[in-house]
Amino acid sequence: MHIIVIGSGMLGLSTADNLVMSGIDVTLVDSRDLGAGTSGTSFAWTNANGKLDPAYHELNIAGMEEHSRLANTLPGPRTYHRSGGLQMAGAHQAPQLEEKIARLTELDYPSELISADHVGEIAGDISVPKGIELIAHFPSEGYVLTGQLLRNLRASAVGHGAKLIRGTVTEVDEGCAQVEVHLGDGRVLSADRVVLATGRWTQALAQASGFDTPMNDEIGRGSAVTGLLGYVRTNSTRVRAVVHTPELNLRPGEDGTIVVQALDLNPRIDPAVPPAAEGPVANVMAERFTAVTNESTPDLIDLRVSYRSLPADGFTIAGFAAGRSRTYCLVTHSGITLGPLLGRLAAEELVADSQQDLLESFRPTRFENATSTAGGVNLPLLLGDQ
Ligand SMILES: Cc1cc2nc3c(=O)[nH]c(=O)nc-3n(C[C@H](O)[C@H](O)[C@H](O)COP(=O)(O)OP(=O)(O)OC[C@H]3O[C@@H](n4cnc5c(N)ncnc54)[C@H](O)[C@@H]3O)c2cc1C
Repeated sequence: MHIIVIGSGMLGLSTADNLVMSGIDVTLVDSRDLGAGTSGTSFAWTNANGKLDPAYHELNIAGMEEHSRLANTLPGPRTYHRSGGLQMAGAHQAPQLEEKIARLTELDYPSELISADHVGEIAGDISVPKGIELIAHFPSEGYVLTGQLLRNLRASAVGHGAKLIRGTVTEVDEGCAQVEVHLGDGRVLSADRVVLATGRWTQALAQASGFDTPMNDEIGRGSAVTGLLGYVRTNSTRVRAVVHTPELNLRPGEDGTIVVQALDLNPRIDPAVPPAAEGPVANVMAERFTAVTNESTPDLIDLRVSYRSLPADGFTIAGFAAGRSRTYCLVTHSGITLGPLLGRLAAEELVADSQQDLLESFRPTRFENATSTAGGVNLPLLLGDQ
């Protein structure tokens, strides 16, 4: 069987790697450099923390577990760190954090309240900001060094025989004996099945191909899709875990950087005029960084605007586009937590025509008779949102 995977972000690479390992002939098509999609600019926190819908929670728990399995089998430098996650709440956020812990406890999600004295041993050079009343520790959470993971997955997929093609897919045509994939430069590829792992660009390609995967794809100022990450270069501060405070989220990044995020600044970000490294947004982030790490002033904060890959109802889309379709759609927010798992489950469904129970609630066909697809997605602004 020959399968074309369109998109080489977390989802496409993970699917391609699982497919070639099962003996499938795989062609991976992408129009951009590795990591140029959302996967290259992600907070990359592995969690099921704010995901209280039972089916989605279960999927994300399985996603977290899959990272441990993948870390033991995928060659290359280590990329998954089960560091634990901290959330610190002031008086304003404490009731919301308490309520979340109660609901997560019902779902058997590990959590504990800790005192400020224990923050350093879990998270490194973090000082508890003024006004913090409650600190929660979620020991099963962690983070991923996504750039390296993408490189490891691509090397593994290519090493097992996947063929890489650079090109922009303009249409997937199922009207022939084989599925045809049309590229912008006129080339036509054909395969038995096609996987759409095209992230935030999926709705446009799906529509051009005659089916629908409704997504939030407005990337203007104040949209739920637009996010901002800062990459702090520092020699003096070491952060060891994922940390959420009311004003700044932090996690260790690649090459000694620390990745930071200030959710309340996101609505101010105009993608048409991205914030500069020494502008007011960077200055606010630097002040907040100093407040939670005691570092005098960080050397440099490199800012990057990123766009969430967000299905219209906020939940994962995984499955064939329609009943007898040969095009498999794979789109999700939380794609770093879920990438390795979705890649394996999608490959099993494609190869063995099996139905994976974990994916049953997330079929693309759920949108067919929906009168409205909106409602599941808010601008991520609260402590522990993502
Ligand atoms: C600010 C922010 C914070 C986040 N934080 C987290 C987090 O903490 N935890 C978590 O789990 N997730 C998080 N996410 C979400 C996660 O990063 C994404 O869900 C994930 O990266 C999506 O991966 P993907 O492979 O679907 O898409 P992408 O990485 O975008 O890959 C899609 C690929 O498809 C290619 N492509 C698209 N269209 C075409 C075409 N027509 N022809 C050829 N190639 C095409 C693109 O070039 C791209 O390489 C965050 C996202 C953002 C923006």
